Amino acid sequence: MTMLDDAYLKCIEHECGLEYPIKSRNVQCEKGHMLDVKYKNNPSIHLKEIFYKRRNSQGNIFDESGVWRFRELLNFCQIDTENIEECSKYLVSLDGAEGRQSKPYRMSKAAKFIEISNENLWLQPEGYNPSGSFKDNGMATAVTHAKMVGAKKIVCASTGNTSASAGMFAANEGIDCNVYIPKGQIAPGKLSQAYQFGAQIVEVDGNFDDALKQSLEDVQNNDGYTVNSINPFRIEGQKTIPFRALEYLNWESPDWIVYPGGALGNTSSCGKALMELHEWGWIKKIPRIAVINSEGASTLSDLYNGKFEDEELRWNKGNPNTELISKYYDHLDKEGIRPKTKATAIQIGRPTNILKGLRALEFTNGVVTTVSDSEMLDGMSVVGLNGFDCEMASGATVVGIKKLITEGIIKKDDIVVGILTGRQKDAMLPVEYHNNSKNKFAKPPKN
Ligand SMILES: [Zn+2]
Repeated sequence: MTMLDDAYLKCIEHECGLEYPIKSRNVQCEKGHMLDVKYKNNPSIHLKEIFYKRRNSQGNIFDESGVWRFRELLNFCQIDTENIEECSKYLVSLDGAEGRQSKPYRMSKAAKFIEISNENLWLQPEGYNPSGSFKDNGMATAVTHAKMVGAKKIVCASTGNTSASAGMFAANEGIDCNVYIPKGQIAPGKLSQAYQFGAQIVEVDGNFDDALKQSLEDVQNNDGYTVNSINPFRIEGQKTIPFRALEYLNWESPDWIVYPGGALGNTSSCGKALMELHEWGWIKKIPRIAVINSEGASTLSDLYNGKFEDEELRWNKGNPNTELISKYYDHLDKEGIRPKTKATAIQIGRPTNILKGLRALEFTNGVVTTVSDSEMLDGMSVVGLNGFDCEMASGATVVGIKKLITEGIIKKDDIVVGILTGRQKDAMLPVEYHNNSKNKFAKPPKN
């Protein structure tokens, strides 16, 4: 195999733009900016037919995989994508299971609740991934890169979905996985999947930021490889979430793609996917991205909507006012404000991918709003009434769409794709919801 020079890493900030070879383990440029995976060649539009044919996978796990089915659009390994031996040697897959069950579905009860026509609403559950969340999309690609650079251990700081996905892939690849957590602050049940998959839990004195910092130090000192979403290869795999939605809609763009907002890896990857598809001429219309924050963890919404120091934070063509972000974080620290929501998947005060998220919002003329915990529980519950299981953070997508329609931002005849990010992992949430007859969709037990 010839290693071409097609894929490389590039700093996202326009005034910097430092570049690194694809085999670099850097997750930031030397000035501390985020990196993008870039490709020099434009994939042929005729791949659309190949992707469609691969749905009949005929035993090829890389065609079966909802991630690797699109491998030409994330070919940072620069392999011959039709050569099954090369695919098997380089691409990491859970036997084709990552992303395999994910596609847009109609959910009539959710549409009725949202007050949108059933034909105009699609909801795409990513919780049906093997570890129960969208993370498997990006973990497949991040662990592929880890393998490409010869890493023997993957490392993350996480209390939930990331640790589950990392642990699962590490177990499948026979490599080590360290999961850093703040000591004494995490309910052990949240880590049950990480334990199950044989990950090594590492307890750190301090808060989540300290755990993340120590995990990155471990990477530097002990030949580890970070799989938190600061890793640009995570973003590559998560591009397949919008790829699958768009393919299902015959590559005709919807008007909106709606995500819950946490670390903003999903927002970033959706934006990158749409930028690339548009540049390559695969799509004409650019869907607008809507990000739904929790009221209790609303960093992006506060900054984007000008609720802090009266300035609306924007990507500003690659020159964002990063000082405003630092001031906002100082303000959170000074006032002792900690992110607080029962939707732990989006309980994040300092979104790692905020700048890439802003770039995505600028490219797509996006919007950001917030919803309350009780609204999210209604959203989660109405998804359940369609026979689909989702976590509380995913409920934000449903009630976020409802709110934006009420406000007239999403029009009633717009086509909307909402992403449901994960499956229910907190068994007591629905039990408590349904035992309280005041809740909108509650069905309390009878005696
Ligand atoms: Zn830079």
